[in-house]
Amino acid sequence: MDEKIKRLAEIIDESSNIVFFGGAGVSTESGIPDFRSANGIYNLDLGREVSPEEMISHTFYMRHTEDFYEFYKDKLIYPDVEPNDCHKALAELEQEGKVKAIVTQNIDGLHQKAGSKVVWELHGSVLRNYCESCHAFYGVDKILESAGVPKCDKCGGRIKPDVVLYEEGLDSDVIDGAVQAIAASDTLIIGGTTLIVYPAAGLIHYFRGKNLVLINMSETSADSNADLVIHERIGEVFRQVMEARGKQI
Ligand code: ZN
Repeated sequence: MDEKIKRLAEIIDESSNIVFFGGAGVSTESGIPDFRSANGIYNLDLGREVSPEEMISHTFYMRHTEDFYEFYKDKLIYPDVEPNDCHKALAELEQEGKVKAIVTQNIDGLHQKAGSKVVWELHGSVLRNYCESCHAFYGVDKILESAGVPKCDKCGGRIKPDVVLYEEGLDSDVIDGAVQAIAASDTLIIGGTTLIVYPAAGLIHYFRGKNLVLINMSETSADSNADLVIHERIGEVFRQVMEARGKQI
């Protein structure tokens, strides 16, 4: 591990345009369970079994909005979580001018909470919610405080989270921003994702830079292409790397 930490510190020092691409593993160290591994099959009062993926699909949201919100509030919103050393290090590296953008599959807003400014949220954020009728904005508190389906104070319309549900397309502006950031970067650090889920696997093909770094507990499909692979806890890796660079986070 020490040699790899040293190498990552060197890569960061010699890079001037780093992009970080992160998945669920980045937030698990803050206490947010990985949606894919956390839960089995749900059995609500629907007379049939429903998978977690189905529960947060567009179809389910439209047909069973109340059940959707029950599941969503219970399993996808974690209002009290705090950024971990990975989030904090990336915010610090943005301040230093090293990190130019973060592309994340997470919807928890923890990068911004840690202080990062340029964050492309591929799947949206639980912290943003909009009235489907008048498009009024609501924070996460409105969702948590509402019993049943959250309704707009202004027009009574239904409020929908700004989260990309299954069956829904990703925001094209977000994709463009992520692609441009990755294409312009000299170093791409991928962390906390096994790269199975699209568009993650597709987006990294836009990388034309010098150093591809992978940090993940288990092996990923891109390990053989990477210049540096670290199979350790990502928060711990960043804490040690920043320490090796003489920074406290
Ligand atoms: Zn409204």
